Amino acid sequence: MRWFRADLHIHSVLSPCASLAMSPRRIVAEARRAGLDLIAVCDHNAGENGRYVRRLAGGTPAVLMGMEIQTEEEVELLAYFADEESCILLQEELYQYLPDIPCRPDLFGDQLVVNAEDEIVRQVPHLLLAPVALPLAEVVRRVELVGGLAIPAHVDRVPGGLLAVLGLFPEGEWPWAVEIAPWTSLAAAWAAWPALRGRPIFRASDAHIPEEIGRAWTELLLAEPSLAELRAAVRGEEGRAVRPGPEAKEDG
Ligand SMILES: [Zn+2]
Ligand SMILES: [Zn+2]
Repeated sequence: MRWFRADLHIHSVLSPCASLAMSPRRIVAEARRAGLDLIAVCDHNAGENGRYVRRLAGGTPAVLMGMEIQTEEEVELLAYFADEESCILLQEELYQYLPDIPCRPDLFGDQLVVNAEDEIVRQVPHLLLAPVALPLAEVVRRVELVGGLAIPAHVDRVPGGLLAVLGLFPEGEWPWAVEIAPWTSLAAAWAAWPALRGRPIFRASDAHIPEEIGRAWTELLLAEPSLAELRAAVRGEEGRAVRPGPEAKEDG
């Protein structure tokens, strides 16, 4: 086993709020610049640019398929998948639960599927940056049904953070690991939210522009950079471990 430096929350040009510069090619280049071993592309309620990033990277860095899903409660949940098929399967399901709002690029920004050659494949017509009409528990269930791993995104942050929005972890079975905002120190997170103590804590860039890639990261002690190993690290199995990197400087 060895430590892998992971940034598991990066947006691409498929997110209307992300820079047009976030093409698969640029994401791979910036991830290499930042010395990342493992990344995940997590666009809002969509996952299809991840496959082009993955093909381009050719393992350097390793790329997990992912999404950042916005639930009915307006809680944001990161979801990671073992393969492209399960990610796209869930994406197609979620598309049916998004409100029928056309994405006007002049208002919301572009939502582009861009391939490994930097060519625009298509523009997603319906607005992706909106809550799906499914409650949090149901989204978690559907992620797990296709073999994915759910990790609530920046739990301490408004908007979208589970703890910031709901005030506490809901009753019942619940994803164990959480992500905190890039600029929140561990001490501050534990002080504000004692329920975080003892849980595996991730930190990631939530990059929307190229320069943000790798501004925050998580060190993972794994046998290999795969979803199965990530899951084992969250469970602390056989010496695998999750260690958040230092907080990033807060941006403007
Ligand atoms: Zn965004
Ligand atoms: Zn995000």
